[in-house]
Amino acid sequence: MAGDCIFCQIIKGEKPADFVYKDDAVVAFKDINPHAPIHLLVVPRKHIRSINDLEEEDRGLVAEIIYRARQIAQEQGIGKSGYKLVFNVERGGGQYVFHVHLHLLGGWKNGWKKK
Ligand code: 5GP
Ligand code: ZN
Repeated sequence: MAGDCIFCQIIKGEKPADFVYKDDAVVAFKDINPHAPIHLLVVPRKHIRSINDLEEEDRGLVAEIIYRARQIAQEQGIGKSGYKLVFNVERGGGQYVFHVHLHLLGGWKNGWKKK
């Protein structure tokens, strides 16, 4: 846990968020600045700075995050239509919140279009 971490504050209930899923290991809530009709963040309760900081013991947790994303996508009704799962890694990869999170994006009306 890191005191100045926004996602730790959300997980502890110190900062509000629109949760769609919670269990002992993982939570998911709506992104405050969505880039898709459905844009959720799937976040481990454990504070891990970035994918680069994962340790051997975190391997199961990563699997859990992806598995829950799949379940949440189904619950949100976008399992069949499809979705994106994205980990941004470090500043060069677009990471701004340094607590590991998986972006779950989907719900485009006519599917995702490559620009
Ligand atoms: P990153 O760029 O680090 O991969 O993604 C961080 C994401 O967290 C961004 O999409 C941003 O909109 C979202 N975000 C940042 N601060 C908050 C917040 O306080 N609440 C919520 N719900 N999302 C946030
Ligand atoms: Zn944190």
